[in-house]
Amino acid sequence: MPAAPDLNGKLALVTGASRGIGREVALQMAVAGAHVIAVARTVGGLEELDDKIAAAGGQATLVPLDLKDFAAIDRLGGVIAERWGKLDALVANAGMLGTITPVTQLKAKTFEEVMAVNVTANWRLIRSVDPLLRQAEAGRAIIVSSGVAHNPKAYFGAYAASKAALDMIARVWAAENRKSALRVNLVNPGPTRTHMRAQAMPGEDPGTLPTPADVAAKIVPLAGADITRTGGIFDIPQDRWLDVAEPQ
Ligand code: NDP
Repeated sequence: MPAAPDLNGKLALVTGASRGIGREVALQMAVAGAHVIAVARTVGGLEELDDKIAAAGGQATLVPLDLKDFAAIDRLGGVIAERWGKLDALVANAGMLGTITPVTQLKAKTFEEVMAVNVTANWRLIRSVDPLLRQAEAGRAIIVSSGVAHNPKAYFGAYAASKAALDMIARVWAAENRKSALRVNLVNPGPTRTHMRAQAMPGEDPGTLPTPADVAAKIVPLAGADITRTGGIFDIPQDRWLDVAEPQ
């Protein structure tokens, strides 16, 4: 995996930028020179990120947004188009876990919310910014998935199903763009010391896990112009691309 790419003059949209992996990806992309559009609901978290980016000499635009507000996602592409005319990188990182419980015990409200945030919001975001990414010289989309998208794990039903659906949407989108300059790849961060991981594994010692900054350092290079692969899944714990069907 190459070092952080030069992102000077690039525009990057990062969702889930208020904490965890997304905040560190946003910070590292800004440090690499990108102007970062940072999306999340928690204004305090976004403002803290903005302070850190400014202290590092970078620039950000904060977009406090609930990704369940689908109409707002639809508008976002138009707003970016008016102000910047293109988008160089999308990091679709925001996600939610829902409840860890047997499939038969899942509440409909939880199932629907997990699908809304992890699947529908990302599909709408892809739809909203696709023309902007294709306007860029070397548009890059990084979609943050999970190992459970491919490995059935008891009690993770809604989350695992949502990540499996997200994976396939991203890989089909990659196939549809394989002849363009846009490269679309998925990434599995692996166990990372965040709020979500603590919610999933409350008995675990977080000190044993990689930090969001460690993991972000492996995600950011996927935004580099040197990335030729598309429709791939980069597995951070194994530090390699998984063997998956090429986009067709
Ligand atoms: P966190 O819970 O720490 O952060 C999740 C981020 O998503 C927050 O910034 C949160 O912002 C945002 N988010 C959640 N719901 C919404 C919403 N409705 N609207 C807008 N933003 C929202 O999680 P991680 O950093 O751990 O996870 C990041 C990604 O990595 C996720 O896609 C997750 O599935 C994936 N992943 C994580 C692993 C881990 O071990 N941590 C392992 C495998 C995959 P806010 O609440 O401010 O809106």
